[in-house]
Amino acid sequence: MSQTPPLAGSGLRVSFEFFPPKTEKMEENLWRSIERLAPLGPSFVSVTYGAGGSTRERTHQTIERILKETTLTPAAHLTCVDASREEVDEVVRQYWETGVRHFVALRGDGQNGVGGKYVPREDGYRNAVELVAGLKAFADFEISVAAYPEKHPESPDFATDIDLLKRKVDNGATRAITQFFFDNDVFERYVERVRRAGIYIPIVPGIVPIHDFVKVARFSNATGAKIPSWLAERFDGLEEDPQTRSHVAAAVCAEQVLDLQKRGLSDFHFYTMNRADLVYSICHILGMRAGTAAAPKSEAAAA
Ligand code: FAD
Repeated sequence: MSQTPPLAGSGLRVSFEFFPPKTEKMEENLWRSIERLAPLGPSFVSVTYGAGGSTRERTHQTIERILKETTLTPAAHLTCVDASREEVDEVVRQYWETGVRHFVALRGDGQNGVGGKYVPREDGYRNAVELVAGLKAFADFEISVAAYPEKHPESPDFATDIDLLKRKVDNGATRAITQFFFDNDVFERYVERVRRAGIYIPIVPGIVPIHDFVKVARFSNATGAKIPSWLAERFDGLEEDPQTRSHVAAAVCAEQVLDLQKRGLSDFHFYTMNRADLVYSICHILGMRAGTAAAPKSEAAAA
């Protein structure tokens, strides 16, 4: 199941996903998070796009600031929700002018977020397959797409789901990032199915550190990610004990990544939830150390 040759040092290559801030306080927190994680040298950092394009401006501003103030490579998430092709193409053009060359191309969900019914617009891109084609028609972007080890909740079966992924790859997707999952056997079986379907792009595991078990469990319910009983037991009784919870979360997540690494994986995408400390601890356990690879410009200049 090996995808890329192992790397020196920790042998890992990581990317970090952030969401755009809503308030000034959240913005400060996001930048603290980016500055804390940047020295780990992620191959890229991505910024999500809210349901219904609700964060269009904020996503753009965050990406722009990453480009201006750091040496990190940003990837802009983009969805088809509630926008015409022209509107989406205009957003792409603005990103192009800012210097963005990597998109995470998604269909998106309906107005109520995850699980909300998606209704394609007559004049819009109907799904990620079409969005990838639209992006490629504009420029030779690097394009990451979503993949679902436990299949997308709307998919009738794995065959349909993987066929959709194949069409995204045929249209130009260069990497798939998975929905988060907790059972590595499930991921391994999924990659085998994907390879059997003739899909050879990297399938990068999406890793979610469990900062709050109750919240993650609720979200898992909507995305279709199963929570194994052993995982629930690890967090049992810690509802009022955030400090222990955070130690357990770091250990559980590092354990998952180390096991995937043993199975031949070297690339990992972390859903950071803008919580740098937990992700930083996990990366430290994994053997990653702050270097100079992609430090914020200010630090790089001072070094
Ligand atoms: P698609 O690949 O277009 O389709 C998803 C599924 O829908 C398919 O697997 C298939 O089962 C079904 N389907 C679609 N079209 C057809 C068809 N014609 N015939 C049959 N079945 C069909 N959401 C956001 O709003 N903002 C984000 O920033 C964001 N980032 C994400 C990042 C990652 C790494 C992941 C895994 C998900 C992210 N999402 C985000 C969630 C995503 O938008 C939802 O999972 C959405 O429901 C599906 O998007 P998609 O790109 O996978 O859709």
